[in-house]
Amino acid sequence: MFIETLGCAMNERDTEHMLAELKEKENYIATNDFKSADLILINTCSVREKPVAKLFSELGIFNKKKKDGAKIGVCGCTASHLGHEIIKRAPYVSFVLGARNISKITEVLHKPKAVEIDINYDESEFAFKDFRSSKYKAYINISIGCDKSCTFCIVPKTRGDEISIPMNLIIDEATRAVSLGAKEIFLLGQNVNNYGHRFSGNHEKTNFTKLLQELSKIDDLRRIRFTSPHPFHMDDEFIEEFATNPKICKSMHMPLQSGSTKVLKDMKRGYTKEWFLNRAKKLRDMVPDVSISTDIIVAFAGESDEDIKDTIDVMNQVKFEQVFSFKYSPRPQTEAEFFPNTIDSDTASARLTSIQELHIKQLDENNASKLGNTYTVYFEELYNDGFVSGRSDNNIVIKVKGSEELLGKFIDVKITSIGRTVLTGEIIN
Ligand code: SF4
Repeated sequence: MFIETLGCAMNERDTEHMLAELKEKENYIATNDFKSADLILINTCSVREKPVAKLFSELGIFNKKKKDGAKIGVCGCTASHLGHEIIKRAPYVSFVLGARNISKITEVLHKPKAVEIDINYDESEFAFKDFRSSKYKAYINISIGCDKSCTFCIVPKTRGDEISIPMNLIIDEATRAVSLGAKEIFLLGQNVNNYGHRFSGNHEKTNFTKLLQELSKIDDLRRIRFTSPHPFHMDDEFIEEFATNPKICKSMHMPLQSGSTKVLKDMKRGYTKEWFLNRAKKLRDMVPDVSISTDIIVAFAGESDEDIKDTIDVMNQVKFEQVFSFKYSPRPQTEAEFFPNTIDSDTASARLTSIQELHIKQLDENNASKLGNTYTVYFEELYNDGFVSGRSDNNIVIKVKGSEELLGKFIDVKITSIGRTVLTGEIIN
């Protein structure tokens, strides 16, 4: 089988789940060559229009060059919102499996033209077989779906309502991953810091701070990372646990989306510019070397020149270590789909450029200040140019000259040269 994964870390984890089920229950083995595969899967993303357009051109190529008798399956978020339309537009597709129905992968394999896209289907307590693409870190879902209603976002329509996965299942999965060698776990959810409010079974209500405390008790687990927390749920208890728990990595993704309180209201994000700045300041005060990353959408319907100035003001106050920025892409089945679009594409491009140029300037300044610093790096990746890379606790990508014997180790590194996305260093003996 060949699987192509588009989109976010949750899609990566869904792909690992499908691989595990297909390996264990159908004896499939993975290949990187789709032309020799008996099964071709594309795990799709719908967060913007571009990946959706890409889907049909890719399907055409797969169909033309696939092995005789090979099946093609479309999974993920675009499967959820397009459903039967995918088979109508690409009749050679064997089945369509929505992002909330991953556990049915071995079922649809044997049901020609199956379309399983129920976004209320509950697999929050499904015990998936185990498969990990990395032996050094383990992605672990802590919830499925999302209960928010951000007016620009299609996720609630493709991944359904938010249900937390029971804490005992999460701890078991983390303990198993650590026993197999992973020293870092990466917790996944649309709103991780809203964990514990709703379970499908009869489980006691809890919260994310409690989950982090319980996971920290796992021996041999060195690092806990997570994405994505929601700024609205960044209460003091959460930030204090983040700051004081030595196993929690000091990098925080705080999706801002817009710096304008007016636009945040139109987006139904549930917080204001002032709240976001207050939380970011508390984080920086409590954890001086914290890395804060963010998402920014420019040219959302109704955004004025004043509004984008607010976004730039937040960037100048917070000085994010990483910014993922995009032009607004109206999504089907969202409240904002029919909001009047008042911004022409040149203006939208100019606003995006201003955000990206400011970020690069801040990033270069920030990186330059790291020259000569020492970081403990967890090495995870080997390159064929004689370098090995890993991440610091605060999520800086650092590479050193070395070989695979460094993989899976925590080693102190002194920074000797600065790149925009990767820093280079020397091992300190
Ligand atoms: S919190 Fe908002 S942006 Fe994030 S997945 Fe949910 S609806 Fe989408």
